[in-house]
Amino acid sequence: MADEPFDATPFLPQRRTLDALRDAAAGCRGCDLWEPATQTVFGEGPKDATFVFVGEVPGDREDREGRPFVGPAGRELDGALVAAGIDRAETYVTNAVKHFRFEERGKRRIHQKPDAKQIKACRPWLLAELDLLRPEALVILGATAAKSLLGSSFKLMAEHGRPLDSDLAPVVVATIHPSSILRGRDGESRQAQRDILVEDLRVAAQTLAKP
Ligand code: SF4
Repeated sequence: MADEPFDATPFLPQRRTLDALRDAAAGCRGCDLWEPATQTVFGEGPKDATFVFVGEVPGDREDREGRPFVGPAGRELDGALVAAGIDRAETYVTNAVKHFRFEERGKRRIHQKPDAKQIKACRPWLLAELDLLRPEALVILGATAAKSLLGSSFKLMAEHGRPLDSDLAPVVVATIHPSSILRGRDGESRQAQRDILVEDLRVAAQTLAKP
C-alpha cells in the first residue's frame, strides 16, 4: 500500500447505481483504512431522499454493524431530525470516509479523525453517491465532511447554519457533527451543541420549504 496512491477511483464500478456502488465499495482498498476495520460502511437511505446527510467516518458500532449512524451519534441525529421536523424516512445518511479509523487501547477501539489523504482518497465514493442521489438538500455534518465537500479553507464554526452557495445541491447547509454533543463536558454544554444542530437543521428545512 505504501507505494500505491491513496485513491478510491480504481475501485468504482462502471455501472452507477447505489447498489453497484455499495457492492464495489465493500472491496475498496483505496487507502490504508480498510485493513484494520471490520467492513466498509456505505450510505443508507432511499434513492429519492430529499435530504442527504454527510458525516465523518463510521464509529465503533457502525463498523461492527456495517450501517451508518446506528451508534450514539446516530441517536443524537435522529433526535435532532425529529426536533427540526425532518422525516427520517426522507433522508439518506452517509460518511465522507467509509471505513472506521481507530486506535486500539487495550480492548477499546478509540475513534480517530481521518487525515487529509484518507478524506481525499474516499471522496470519489461520496461524489458518486451525490451524483446518483441529487438531493434537494445536503446537510454537511462536521469539519471532515466540510473539508471533503467544501475544501480545507471552509470555516465550519463561522459558516454553519446558513445556506451556502454551492453546486452540490439546491440547498446546502453545514453544521456540527452530532458526535460533538457526546463530547460535551456536562449536560449544559451538550444541550448547547444539541441546540446548534437542531437550529441548523431547521435552517435547511425552512430554506427548502421556501417557494
Ligand atoms: S476509507 Fe474509503 S478509500 Fe479508504 S479503503 Fe475505505 S472505502 Fe476505500
